[in-house]
Amino acid sequence: MSSATSAVAVSTESSVPQERLVRTEIPGPRSKEIHERRRAVVPPGVHSVLPVYIERAHDSILIDVDGNQIIDVCGGIGVTTIGHTDDRVVAAATAQLQNVTHTLFTMTPYEPYVQVAEHLAKHVPGSTASAPYKTLLMNSGAEAVENGVKIARKFTGRPGVAVLEHAYHGRTLLTSSMNHKAAPYALGYGPRVGDIYKAPNSYPLHDGLTGAEAAARTIAYLEKQAGASDLACLVVEPVQGEGGFIVPADGFLPALAEWCRANGIVFIADEVQAGMARTGTVFSIEQFDVVPDIVLSAKGIAGGLPLAGITGRADIMDQSQPGGLGGTFGGNPVSCAAAVAVFEQIESLGLLGEARRIESSFGAGLRELQERFPAIAEVRGMGAMLAIEVTKPGTLEPDADLVARVIDAAAQRGVLLLSSGVHNQAIRFLPSLKMSDALIADVMSVLQESFSVASS
Ligand SMILES: *Cc1c(COP(=O)(O)O)cnc(C)c1O
Repeated sequence: MSSATSAVAVSTESSVPQERLVRTEIPGPRSKEIHERRRAVVPPGVHSVLPVYIERAHDSILIDVDGNQIIDVCGGIGVTTIGHTDDRVVAAATAQLQNVTHTLFTMTPYEPYVQVAEHLAKHVPGSTASAPYKTLLMNSGAEAVENGVKIARKFTGRPGVAVLEHAYHGRTLLTSSMNHKAAPYALGYGPRVGDIYKAPNSYPLHDGLTGAEAAARTIAYLEKQAGASDLACLVVEPVQGEGGFIVPADGFLPALAEWCRANGIVFIADEVQAGMARTGTVFSIEQFDVVPDIVLSAKGIAGGLPLAGITGRADIMDQSQPGGLGGTFGGNPVSCAAAVAVFEQIESLGLLGEARRIESSFGAGLRELQERFPAIAEVRGMGAMLAIEVTKPGTLEPDADLVARVIDAAAQRGVLLLSSGVHNQAIRFLPSLKMSDALIADVMSVLQESFSVASS
C-alpha cells in the first residue's frame, strides 16, 4: 500500500471535499427515481455503466444526487485528466462564454482556435518551429479518426485503412467498422465500411513476441491481405485504450512506422485516450521513439468540453481543398479556450511529473494487490493509464465475471471503476493527475476489499 501522505492541497473554496463518503445504497433512491424517468425517454442503446446521477464534481470526486461522494477513477474515460472543474479551465471557459460562443471558424474565425493549434504543434514529435505540424479541430475522437482517414486518403490517393486487433476508434459508421469488437459497436448497423484491414497487434502478455517479431507478423499480414501500395494509412493507438491498456513490446511501433515510411503509408497515432499528459508526456508516442505523420487528440484536451484535434505534417494536411475539412461546431471557441487552459495547467502544475507520481504510487498499490490475488495476471500501463488483467489463476483465460464483481463491489463502496479489453478481462484506471496519494491509498483499500468480497 502506498503511503497515505497527501501532497496535493484540497481546494478550500470548493464545495466538493476530496473524500469518499457513502450515504445511501448505490445507486441511491434519488438516482433510481431519475433513472426510471430516463428509461422512458432515453433508448437502452445509450447505456450507463453505473446509473448514479451526478450533480457536482471537482478534482477526483463526483457528488451524486443522493449526496454520495464517489472517487472517480475513470474521469469520463480519460477526459477529466487534469481533474473535474479545474479552476483555470472553468475561468477560461466562463470568460469565453461571455464573449462569444459561436461564429463558425469556417465563416469568421477567432484566435483561441489558432492558439490550440499552436499548442498542439509544440508538442507533437516531428513538428518543429520552422516546419510546424498543422491542426484541424473537430468535436469528438471519432471525428478526429474520420478526418485523419480522409486526409490520408487525399494525400496518398489510396483507399486502404489498416488498424490493429484490439483497437477502438469510435462509434460513427467508419470508425465502428475499424474497431476490433463487432458487438456492441457495429453489430446490426451494417453494411460496414470496406477497405479496412485488421492486423495482429503486439500483446506481450499473450503473444510472448518481441516488438520486432510482432511487427514482422503485422507487416506480413498487411502486405498479404491489403497490399502496401493500396494502404492510405495505418491507424494505431500507441497504448491501446478500450483494448485493455495494452503497451506494445519495445520496438513494435518504430518498426511499423519505418515500414509505413518506406511504403508511403501515413502513420496515424490515435492518442484520443492516451494523449494529453495522461502517460507522463503530452503524447504517449513521445515515449516510443516514433515520429508520427498525424496525431489525433480528443478526450482530455479541453478538460471536459468537446474538442478534437487532427495534427499532421503540413504537406499532408495541405492536400485538402478549401472547404473539404470542417464542420459547424468544430473547434468551438469555448472548448478552445478550455483547451488553452488545459495546456497552461499541464505546464504550470507540472502535471507530467504528477502522471509519473501516479504511475509509481498507484502502480505500487496495484502490484501489492497482485501479490494478494493470483487472479491478477498482470499490472501494466504508463503514467496515469494503468490496468490489471484478471484471469483464472495460473492461466491466461479471461475472468470477466470476476472483473464485473470487483467493479460492482467497488461501486457499492464509492469507487468508480471501469472494465476494458475485448473480453472485459481488465480493469482500467484513469485517475486525475491531481489525485492525491491519500486518495490513491483509499482506492487501494477499497480494491483489496472488493477483490476479497468478489473472490469468495
Ligand atoms: C474514445 C476513443 C475514440 C472515440 O472518441 P469519441 O470522442 O468517443 O468519439 C477514438 N479513439 C480512441 C483511442 C478512443 O479511446
